Amino acid sequence: MEKYCVNKETKDNPKGNHEVHKKGCHKWPENGEDLGEFADCHGAVQKAKDLGYSKVDGCVHCCPDCHNE
Ligand SMILES: [Zn+2]
Repeated sequence: MEKYCVNKETKDNPKGNHEVHKKGCHKWPENGEDLGEFADCHGAVQKAKDLGYSKVDGCVHCCPDCHNE
């Protein structure tokens, strides 16, 4: 299991998405919202959506399987 978080801000994402990151990513946000631990990025992205983040995308670096745009 890996720790994931979602960026509360969208200014770093050209599409205006909230990026989901895995612990250890060099783009891990200092003030991100903790999502908990998941076996893969798909669960983390779903958790972020459940928390109310409507536009969510996986980080291209640490969550390539969940990176859509
Ligand atoms: Zn990342």
